[in-house]
Amino acid sequence: MVALVDVRRLTPRTDAVLADPRLAAAEHRLGRAIVLSAVRRAQDRARAGEIEPTAVPDAAVESLPSHAATLTPVINATGVLLHTNLGRAPLSAAARDALEAAAGSTDLEFDLASGQRGRRGRGMLSALSAAVPAAEAVHVVNNNAAALVLAATALAAGREVIVSRGELIEIGDGFRLPDLLESTGARIREVGTTNRTTAADYAAAIGPQTAFVLKVHPSNYRIEGFTASASIAELAALSVPVIGDIGSGLLTPHPLLPAEPDASSWLTAGAAVVTASGDKLLGGPQAGLLAGRADLIARLARHPLARALRVDKLTAAALEATLTGPRPPVAEQLAAPQAELAARAGRIADVLAAVGIDARAQHCGAAVGGGGAPGVSLPSAAVSLPAELAVELRSGLAVRRGARPAVVGRIEDGRLLLDLRAVSEADDQRLTAAVRSAAATGPAEAG
Ligand SMILES: *Cc1c(COP(=O)(O)O)cnc(C)c1O
Repeated sequence: MVALVDVRRLTPRTDAVLADPRLAAAEHRLGRAIVLSAVRRAQDRARAGEIEPTAVPDAAVESLPSHAATLTPVINATGVLLHTNLGRAPLSAAARDALEAAAGSTDLEFDLASGQRGRRGRGMLSALSAAVPAAEAVHVVNNNAAALVLAATALAAGREVIVSRGELIEIGDGFRLPDLLESTGARIREVGTTNRTTAADYAAAIGPQTAFVLKVHPSNYRIEGFTASASIAELAALSVPVIGDIGSGLLTPHPLLPAEPDASSWLTAGAAVVTASGDKLLGGPQAGLLAGRADLIARLARHPLARALRVDKLTAAALEATLTGPRPPVAEQLAAPQAELAARAGRIADVLAAVGIDARAQHCGAAVGGGGAPGVSLPSAAVSLPAELAVELRSGLAVRRGARPAVVGRIEDGRLLLDLRAVSEADDQRLTAAVRSAAATGPAEAG
């Protein structure tokens, strides 16, 4: 007890620690509150006898986060390509560079040549138009839910939207499409049954109150067996516009996901407007894409609500770069051959096993995720580890201190699987280093 009292007395005072030049510099970079809490944590450790009082400044410097936001970088080894809880699509290097360039003042809404006001986000909009030539016009809002709200508000408030009973989906976290639509003042006219809806069902429901037919891709579940649904082409033959929510953001057909709808195909088949997410299979920032008939897109873009849903310069920059730049990570990861993933898993497992960690490579199945292609299993490969490592890898002290990225895998048959389908090859070394460091601290240290 005497020793503890001594340590308490010797713990350096806050202003003395803050005077350390490294911490003073960090204050400029991260702000006072963050540095202060790092100092307080270090003082607490000294008082608890965990570290020497003289080590407080070093400990405070070590525990400083790398940046001023609490969002922690994660390596997504869950095997779910589009993981909503992990921020969905990781951005490409091109998109990250564009974000950085747009972060300061930028000509978002200004024409540098004439010195006059310019069209907001014109680069992003022309990139989207070029990527979807079947669309007469395009518009971008904050997310696909916002795109649907804007379409329903501008085109159907006080009127009816016809939707199949098989497509009244919940998109996640309790958000239900019918509630979203009705919040705009539109009324939903349900047609058909859960498993079967025909073009005739829609036709019979059309009346003077009908604003449009909504066709929604059930992107997170699948109905199998005795089923029927009306195609876009059949619906386009009806007397009202068809708005199609494809969900995923695929702009053209994807050879590996033949059942996943894409914007170009639905527009060519006669959809008046297609809505989609920017951060699902398109692999860009969160955004809601609207593409289709010029008159309808103009009505949406001019509606007062559009102002409340418009995207900022960061989204505009990242979306444009995603559309014009090289294939984004999601597209690369989706296309990676299983043999390649297996070879990477084998190499990582060998390195880990060589230092005494119980690691082995194994085949497994990955998924696209809530963002698309329900029921599709993507052949994948994983590094299998003791399940006890999961917590340390995800949230160990080194992760909380920003010294290594969090690694999130999944537990299967009592083992922790780090599935490589959603991990870019460029991250293999960071992943391997994270496992080594976690095994050295965690309870599952081998040997
Ligand atoms: C994901 C999804 C949405 C919601 O998209 P956000 O961009 O997350 O708002 C809407 N409809 C479908 C079919 C979806 O798959």
